[in-house]
Amino acid sequence: MHFDVIVIGGGAAGLMCAATAGQQGKRVALLDHANKMGKKILMSGGGRCNFTNMYLEPSNYLCSNPHFCKSALSRYTEWDFIELVNRYQINYHEKTLGQLFCDNKANDILQMLFAECDKGKVKRITDCTISSVARRDESDRNQVDAGNKNGTDADENRFNLETSCGKFSCASLVIASGGLSIPTMGASGFGYQIAEQFGLKLLPRRASLVPFTLSGKWLEKLQPLAGVAIDCTLSCDSAGRKIAFNEAMLFTHRGLSGPAVLQISNYWQLGQPVEFDFLPSDNITALINEWREQGNKQELKNLLAQKLPKRFVSIWLSEEIMTKPVQQLSVADITKLEQDFHHWKIIPSGTEGYRTAEVTLGGIHTDEVSSKTFEAKKVPGLYFVGEVLDVTGWLGGFNFQWAWASGYCAGLSV
Ligand SMILES: Cc1cc2nc3c(=O)[nH]c(=O)nc-3n(C[C@H](O)[C@H](O)[C@H](O)COP(=O)(O)OP(=O)(O)OC[C@H]3O[C@@H](n4cnc5c(N)ncnc54)[C@H](O)[C@@H]3O)c2cc1C
Repeated sequence: MHFDVIVIGGGAAGLMCAATAGQQGKRVALLDHANKMGKKILMSGGGRCNFTNMYLEPSNYLCSNPHFCKSALSRYTEWDFIELVNRYQINYHEKTLGQLFCDNKANDILQMLFAECDKGKVKRITDCTISSVARRDESDRNQVDAGNKNGTDADENRFNLETSCGKFSCASLVIASGGLSIPTMGASGFGYQIAEQFGLKLLPRRASLVPFTLSGKWLEKLQPLAGVAIDCTLSCDSAGRKIAFNEAMLFTHRGLSGPAVLQISNYWQLGQPVEFDFLPSDNITALINEWREQGNKQELKNLLAQKLPKRFVSIWLSEEIMTKPVQQLSVADITKLEQDFHHWKIIPSGTEGYRTAEVTLGGIHTDEVSSKTFEAKKVPGLYFVGEVLDVTGWLGGFNFQWAWASGYCAGLSV
């Protein structure tokens, strides 16, 4: 079967790319090895898909070249996607920090993308395992050109694919196979293998937007807090800069999770400490002084329980400090409280890995592809879009916006 464009991977970026190319009049096939397309869209945002973010900035992305994402994000913006969502009369709301979620279900977004693909007459094929991708090299193509009496363009058959659904050929091949997170949802290293096959540079990959695991005495101490959530500020050093996020964190049976932890995991390196401020909008010394001035005689634990979950306060403080009336706290006690509430540091033993990570950090080096068209500089006709590239967004709709924007730009260019 011959197509102008074949897109491998029917996730967020692949669907957007295929729909855009199809609507430009290209004959497009979208192939996926899974039994359904868009599985991550369906499970995203707790089933409601946080499909974009209204306060998007290029600085919300991590990439070895911080300028790489700017072009696509400005050519297909969050407002373009919101306009598409409005056109399909999908209701949505802002949850927090500009994050837009469907009122109903993530499936609304997937059905919208399918409808956009149908508009472009995209042939969608699932359960299709790709066993090989071959590119006609330049010398083969010159021979074909020389013997080509009809004058058809040899570039038309630039790529040949062997698959479980038969043989395919195409002029442009788009790799939108995503990253490695959640293998049970169809994630694979396919895109990285193709990059290697064609001699493109790869950056090391790791699970990100992922919970931290703890071990030893800290796991033992904190396990009873599983299920407790606290608004706090988390920070760590990254390339000589202090990175901080002020959001909720959650204690779990295995360690630490919640939005603030997932956000900082994008910047964290194994072996590095993470600092927690559990009272980011207060100052514990000032609070204690205030309580004292008010003549308050209560124990510290009761006063702090007005500010923090009771279960947390009872475990966090040593029995000795916890039961002291606030008037009797010594200077040393207050110094310790400052440390434990505003500057608590821990070195996580690791992360939960690809099993629960939302994204893969790293990937195909962006030096290898055009930031405008997403075509590989060394391999004409080969494109890479979405998460397979070394572009990772913060939590909050940024990763989908990258998928929509890169897919759209490549779709215009193929
Ligand atoms: C649990 C979870 C929740 C998330 N929530 C959000 C959210 O609310 N907002 C947000 O912005 N981001 C969210 N993300 C991240 C977001 O889902 C991804 O960044 C985004 O889906 C990447 O799009 P993609 O098209 O590059 O890859 P994917 O969406 O992963 O699509 C890749 C596709 O390629 C297919 N594929 C893989 N290998 C092969 C192969 N060998 N052959 C054929 N097909 C193949 C897969 O089956 C899949 O359909 C979430 C991720 C997870 C895991």
